[in-house]
Amino acid sequence: MADCLFCKIIAGDIPSTKVYEDETILAFRDIAPQAPTHILVIPKAHIPSVDGITAENSAVVAHIFQVIPQIAAAEGLTGGYRVVSNCGADAGQTVHHLHFHILGGKQLALEMA
Ligand code: 5GP
Ligand code: ZN
Repeated sequence: MADCLFCKIIAGDIPSTKVYEDETILAFRDIAPQAPTHILVIPKAHIPSVDGITAENSAVVAHIFQVIPQIAAAEGLTGGYRVVSNCGADAGQTVHHLHFHILGGKQLALEMA
């Protein structure tokens, strides 16, 4: 997707601080961290949001969730962490390329809404 911010990060056209990369996914630090550790994990394939996950493309989502614990361990998040994906306007999604936030490194607020 030519006009997608995260596709540009995948392509290397916009710099990012990468923490994990393989053939199908990329993880990098959020530019405006909301916790001491704030990482975004994305598929390299452009999927607009959770609403775009299908039987055909969901293997990459399973892979993301297999890698998340490795990233959390590498970040030293032994006390726990939160995984969040905002989908659509009511959730405040601002980048329309599927991404999972990993948040940790402090006691996180309990409010979910
Ligand atoms: P959303 O609000 O869509 O769930 O999350 C988008 C996230 O992308 C936000 O936390 C925002 O700080 C982050 N973000 C936006 N632009 C950039 C960027 O250019 N680089 C990085 N690393 N993160 C970004
Ligand atoms: Zn994209």
